[in-house]
Amino acid sequence: MSRTVYVNGEYLPEGEAKVSIFDRGFLMADGVYEVTSVLDGKLVDFDGHAIRLERSLNELDMRAPVTKDELLNIHRELVAKNDVVDGGVYLQITRGAPADRDFVYPDPDETPCTVVLFTQSKPGITESPAAKNGIKVISIEDQRWGRRDIKTVQLLYPSMGKMMAKAAGCDDAWLVEDGYVTEGTSNNAYIVKDGKIITRQLSKDILHGITRAAVLRFAAEAQMEVEERLFTIEEAQQADEAFITSATMFVCPVVEIDGAQIGGGAPGSIAPRLREIYLDEARKAAI
Ligand code: PMP
Repeated sequence: MSRTVYVNGEYLPEGEAKVSIFDRGFLMADGVYEVTSVLDGKLVDFDGHAIRLERSLNELDMRAPVTKDELLNIHRELVAKNDVVDGGVYLQITRGAPADRDFVYPDPDETPCTVVLFTQSKPGITESPAAKNGIKVISIEDQRWGRRDIKTVQLLYPSMGKMMAKAAGCDDAWLVEDGYVTEGTSNNAYIVKDGKIITRQLSKDILHGITRAAVLRFAAEAQMEVEERLFTIEEAQQADEAFITSATMFVCPVVEIDGAQIGGGAPGSIAPRLREIYLDEARKAAI
């Protein structure tokens, strides 16, 4: 069935949606994005994603082309038009399509941003085998640019990382810079030792995950100890548990890192507990 998608103010069948070849998203990866999960037909943490989007746009001197309320309406309209029960909404805003290719930013009064949204249906998204059995990761050097706190569409290195993981018979890669884990290719990374949850502190080195913020809040509310600091792959391999968070994976256990089993190769108790709390709260607060 053909999806209805949104492009610059119009709802169109996916086959009819078009963006210019001069679009700076296409030519220069000059764009930002967000992925908001949908559970039971409702948006999970829409506010968090809208706030981060605004920050990404500001950091790149891009003018928000739509208000937060308009964005919420578009998200809801697309979920309804496409009968999405479980899945997500992908949103991308680029610096638009000037008349020609040029490194210099176009005048925003002459070149409006391009706004594209589409839905992805993923029935049974909360019941994934990955969440039940855990995933295996490899470590690779973090070779991305230095502003990973801005959610840009420059996703080639993360994509290469996933392919390296796949070639090694694993599910994902953890990125390592100066000896310390930054994050996963498309998720934040955590270890658990003696009941304490350890994850890298926020900086320009990692994306400020919306799921990360929620999970750390729920962990603190459940009296779990949280420490935000650097950790190495060696420390992770000695940990009792490891896990990742993202809007699409929620909380997912990691059971192997570079061939070393974590917690005997099966999910422990903390990651599954956090997943349960997160999903419960996400469903309750979804709009
Ligand atoms: N880090 C990176 C590099 C990501 O791409 C993502 C997912 N977009 C995350 C972390 C997790 O962020 P969120 O919880 O907001 O999905």
